[in-house]
Amino acid sequence: MVVSDLDGTLLDHETYSWQAAAPALALLKQRGIPLILATSKTAAEVRGLHRELGLGALPAIVENGAGLYRPGVADGAEPGYARIRAALEALPDRLRQRFRGFGDMTAAEIAETTGLPEQGAALARRREHSEPGLWMGGDGDLRAFLQALDRQGIHARHGGRFLTLSLGRTKADGLRQVAAELSPDTVIALGDAPNDVDLLQAADIGVIVRNDHAPAIAQLPEEAVGRIRRTKKIGPEGWNDAVIGLVQELQKAGD
Ligand SMILES: [Mg+2]
Repeated sequence: MVVSDLDGTLLDHETYSWQAAAPALALLKQRGIPLILATSKTAAEVRGLHRELGLGALPAIVENGAGLYRPGVADGAEPGYARIRAALEALPDRLRQRFRGFGDMTAAEIAETTGLPEQGAALARRREHSEPGLWMGGDGDLRAFLQALDRQGIHARHGGRFLTLSLGRTKADGLRQVAAELSPDTVIALGDAPNDVDLLQAADIGVIVRNDHAPAIAQLPEEAVGRIRRTKKIGPEGWNDAVIGLVQELQKAGD
């Protein structure tokens, strides 16, 4: 099974194209090796790409591991998001007013904040498992805000401009859930950024795809023993070389 991050990994950082990875994608399909997408995007955002890649009924890891996308299951069927929003509304006004989540914004505001086109922002707003938002208060109130949410079982993670609230699951939890369903012999994971490290470490083999536009992943202990490797080429080109190389290597080891 191959589990892959999207932006900067399978998709080119600039153009969002996966075309350079087409040979490796065809090889996976030919060998019947499942490809599991793992992204910060929502189910609504990932559906089009999932279909374009011909991934059929395979699930995808969405909202940074907070949930799974299952093709054919309607959006909004998950209780996690409602629980997070209810926890926010239960906060004292002083703290609640300092957090502006996607659920408090219009699609136009999300587009302005994220740089997404407005149509994309509308899909990013269709959340099921996690709530990104902007913190607009000081550090003292932030501590109180995080403590009050923690008491309600809500976890917060800082990433770029956003503070993202979830029930605490990561991409690695998503990987373990899908692996338990599909029982693969070997799990290969690919990612390009520090928020992919837990995913890479949860796999049998991790691949750090080079991305010169993102903060680098510091040297990991697994690299010394070859369990995590790095690509020379960036984005989908590096992805293509790594996946073809690993499929051949594992096949030889299995013969
Ligand atoms: Mg990425």
